[in-house]
Parts: sequence; C-alpha cells; structure tokens
Amino acid sequence: MDPERLVLNPEQALNAICLDFRGYGPQPMLFCEVLRAIHGEAMVVRREPGSEGLWIAKPGSGKMRHLEGAELVAFMCDQVRGARLPPERLAVVSRQVFQTACRVVTDPATDAPAIAVDTGMATFACRQCGRCCRHLDYRDGITEADVARLRALDRQDILEWVGVAKGADGRNVYRIWVEPGTNRFAVPCPFLKRGPTADRWLCRIHAVKPEICRHYPVSRKHAAMTGCPGFDRR
Ligand code: SF4
Repeated sequence: MDPERLVLNPEQALNAICLDFRGYGPQPMLFCEVLRAIHGEAMVVRREPGSEGLWIAKPGSGKMRHLEGAELVAFMCDQVRGARLPPERLAVVSRQVFQTACRVVTDPATDAPAIAVDTGMATFACRQCGRCCRHLDYRDGITEADVARLRALDRQDILEWVGVAKGADGRNVYRIWVEPGTNRFAVPCPFLKRGPTADRWLCRIHAVKPEICRHYPVSRKHAAMTGCPGFDRR
C-alpha cells in the first residue's frame, strides 16, 4: 500500500467520509461547505455562534430545523450518500472533508473511476513526543491479524497484555493493553519508555507493534484532529 496515496472506489470514499464525520463529531464549518457543494444555494444552512449545531432548511422546504450531535452527523452521512455524486463532485467533497488533494483517477483493478486521496504523509516526521501512546484511545484497536502475527512470533511477553472477551457473535474480541491477570487497562501503554531526552518517548515493541500504532496518523487531518505534531514545521 502506498502510504502517501489512497485510491478509493466511490463506495469506499463515501464510507471514509462518513467515518470522518462519525469519528470527529460535528464539524459545522465543514458541514456547511459540504452541503453547499452538494446542493448549492438550494439548501439553506445557518451556523449558530457558539453552537456545534446547524439550522437547516431542505431544498423546497423553507422550514428551518436545528440539528446537532449524532443527529447532525447522521443527517450529513445521509446527504453525501443520497446525493449520488458523480466522481468529479465526489472528489470535491472528499477534498473538503479530508483537507488534502483528491482527484479522479481510473482504478487499475476495475477500470472504473475512483478517488485518489493524497494523505500528505510525505511531509510527516514523528517527533517521538508520545502523545498518541499516552492520550489516544486505542483500546479496541488491536485486530485478530495482529494477535495471529504475535502468536506466530511467539511474543508471549506482549500477548499477556492483550485482553480477550467474547463478542455478541461468539467471536473473540481483543483489547489492549490489559494488566496481566486483571481486567484493568494499563495506563499509559506498558511498552512506552523514556527516550534520550525528557520530551522524547520510545516504543519497546516498535518492530512488532499493532497495525493501529504502526499506521497512526493516517493523514494530515487525522494528525491535526488528534493532537499529533508530526506535520508541524520545526
Ligand atoms: S503524536 Fe505524532 S509525533 Fe507524537 S509520537 Fe505520536 S505519531 Fe509521533
């Protein structure tokens, strides 16, 4: 996978947009831009100072309705999905949402139009500040594939910190990092250690750490929204 460019088919692009909306919660300024890109002047949208909500009148309705929180997020997902945007306009909305260059390309696997998203990772440099390891919630981020990989490597020293529970479908659900022999989450990450200076932190399991740690952050926006300084100019 090219970490600097993602190629998404239209369904994947819509899923990624809705994941962004759900993951970061209401983004009123962005939502206004997106609704304008979809509906032009036909949908009336008003921001309310100091509020995370929006006043919205659907095209042809004239009646303003206030939406906020999860209801606003669900409304936005319905709007981008229901608009059935052609690829060029989907690229415009993707650019607004992901805050990076997005353009229409031909998916080599299907010959169909797809959206290429520039992740901006070429300019990323980890500062080893340890904020992600100390402050983000990655508890349900470990995957079955991570666990299988650690088992194949016989890393019992890591696996003993992985909690296992049964999901509703009877399959194993893994959580990290759980103090061995308890149900208590370890805070902070038990594999974090002090670096050579007071403001630097290192990972003791860097070579084999879970994919969620390896791929953080996935984009400039992801970094900005979660407090990672890896794109800041020194
Ligand atoms: S928050 Fe960003 S810069 Fe800091 S350690 Fe994590 S990835 Fe590196």
